[in-house]
Amino acid sequence: MKKRIVVIGSGLGGLAATVRLAAAGHEVTLCEQGENFGGKMNCWTEQGFRFDTGPSLITMPWIFREIFEAVGSRIEDHLKLVPVNPICEYLYPDGTRFNYSASMPDWLETVRNLERRDVEGFLKFMRLGAQLYELSRDTFLRYRPADWVQHTDIGSLRHLPWRYGWGNYHRTVAAHFKSPHLQQLYDRYPTYVGSCPYRSPATFALIPYIEFMFGDWYILGGLYRMVESLITIARQQGVTLLTGARVTRIEHAGGRISAVRLADNTKLPADIVVMNGDASHAPQMLGEPGARMELAPRDRSMSGLVFLFGIRRSIPRLNHHAVFFSSDYRREFDDLFDRRQFPDEPTVYVNAPSRSDRSLVPGEGETLFVMANAPANDGSWDDQAIAVARQRVFSVLRAGGFPDIEKEIVVSNVFTPEKIGQRYLMPGGAIYGTHSHNWRYAFLRPPNMHTRYKGLYFVGGSTHPGGGTPIVLTSARIVSELIERYES
Ligand SMILES: Cc1cc2nc3c(=O)[nH]c(=O)nc-3n(C[C@H](O)[C@H](O)[C@H](O)COP(=O)(O)OP(=O)(O)OC[C@H]3O[C@@H](n4cnc5c(N)ncnc54)[C@H](O)[C@@H]3O)c2cc1C
Repeated sequence: MKKRIVVIGSGLGGLAATVRLAAAGHEVTLCEQGENFGGKMNCWTEQGFRFDTGPSLITMPWIFREIFEAVGSRIEDHLKLVPVNPICEYLYPDGTRFNYSASMPDWLETVRNLERRDVEGFLKFMRLGAQLYELSRDTFLRYRPADWVQHTDIGSLRHLPWRYGWGNYHRTVAAHFKSPHLQQLYDRYPTYVGSCPYRSPATFALIPYIEFMFGDWYILGGLYRMVESLITIARQQGVTLLTGARVTRIEHAGGRISAVRLADNTKLPADIVVMNGDASHAPQMLGEPGARMELAPRDRSMSGLVFLFGIRRSIPRLNHHAVFFSSDYRREFDDLFDRRQFPDEPTVYVNAPSRSDRSLVPGEGETLFVMANAPANDGSWDDQAIAVARQRVFSVLRAGGFPDIEKEIVVSNVFTPEKIGQRYLMPGGAIYGTHSHNWRYAFLRPPNMHTRYKGLYFVGGSTHPGGGTPIVLTSARIVSELIERYES
């Protein structure tokens, strides 16, 4: 039966839920408090330079294809996905540098040159990732936790090496790789979900497996094209799309959702509400007594400090992705999670999509997205804090042989954790909601369906199954299936 549905937030998960629910015949209104759609998957253009301000790489491309198919469309009619190879260039303070090739023979050759014994370790690590992926693909990544059990083949758990599968992520990496360079490379993966390798569960070994086996992908024209395509589809479906529409209240009567209230007091009646904003905001929006708005800082995933630079000359040697590692990774994470300060010596990620896509720049030049991890604190980032952090970032880049671009910068912008937090209403700018350092946070995120208020659902990175673009698309599928099951 046709329902009136309000989606709160136009992040990728909110948009995907919107088009799925509209395709199912519901009357959908999308309320976005910001000036434009997309949430963290956003963009900035200036003087002909076009930048993605959030995601820079996507994995599991079939999940992107699937959302178009689910709404009766074809990805080819909207987007061109291209594989990125090498996956990344890694540069270390001791001068070591190499490409992480997506080709198995090339990569095994690189591993052999770094440490002969690690060839076997790499293959074992990939096998572990494959087992973990097989286990989660049709359970954790497919259904809400309450529905896993019936889909879990308990027998398959027998084949998982328990010590590694359920242990600590870093210790598992160290057990597979002797080369400190490879250890640091594989230790980086929990940062894909805003977490620390020394505190995360080994189950995250499925992330490097997914990236290596299924590739690292880019969308021509920039990843924001994905958001633009979903908006185009939503318009064609007749969805009401609102920007500058902040929902402050979710109203209910007799345990059932009845409406949302906007900041200007407009009331939008609703049979169903899908919350794409941070799930930790829901209790207060529901008017629950004593509800706190924010996630405590110690529970948050990392944020990031992002510099965007449009530069006037090309850097042909630059890869699409490059990482300049710090000399002491453990200290860097202690800075981020214990001392909760921007690291003295940050690891710096440089994304240069213009190396693969000249449509992003006017003529010569490059678009650079330069990011370092930062704690998701509540404090403010003043000009001086930005200047100090920028100096640290440039000093790591210089030490890694990155060309001096300071005089070549034509346009620039900076996204601090404070700005990320304010733009997308994320506590402290925590990109992935909670960190994933314990089992509850990694695998039992807030459920996709409210247990007490009928008609209230949650989609996006702060809820099950978690953050990252393919995963929030998965959460949209879970939510639309739940609505079909419980509301029709
Ligand atoms: C710098 C950066 C780099 C990243 N890199 C990658 C990457 O390389 N690969 C990858 O897969 N992922 C990456 N991510 C993560 C990815 O962007 C997110 O996991 C994903 O886009 C989150 O989607 P979401 O559905 O959770 O919505 P969000 O993006 O969190 O959007 C939620 C939306 O809800 C709106 N909202 C909140 N509250 C209200 C309210 N009360 N009323 C109305 N609107 C509201 C917000 O304004 C926002 O637009 C990155 C993120 C950032 C910031």
